[in-house]
Amino acid sequence: MNPSNDDTVRLYRAANEPEAHMLKMELEAAGIQAIVEGGTLQWARGEVPPSPDTLPSVRILERDLPAAQPILESFIESKAPENPLEEWTCPACGETAGGQFALCWNCQAERPDASEGFTTEDTKSTE
Ligand SMILES: [Zn+2]
Repeated sequence: MNPSNDDTVRLYRAANEPEAHMLKMELEAAGIQAIVEGGTLQWARGEVPPSPDTLPSVRILERDLPAAQPILESFIESKAPENPLEEWTCPACGETAGGQFALCWNCQAERPDASEGFTTEDTKSTE
């Protein structure tokens, strides 16, 4: 009985160790066995040369790959910084608006990055 005989594949290369462990937890919550492989482990096995930019990665059993893909995708989506629906802060009144709105729900000011010359209305703010 040696579970390490099962083929494992690298599912994801994380930017840092906490991120790798976060994904591991999500996979395990779904019943998928996962291991976080840090740089030092790899060095010990001679897989990669020691290097400061060796990033931790998440490995799973190859047979779990189909089940892990959707989990990985939603994990990546949930942390994607370039989300177009990201909230924005109104420069006129300071309220936070959802990314789907081009105008502030509170004062109808335009979303800053929706137009480049958004400073033209600045003199109107009297509140
Ligand atoms: Zn506003």
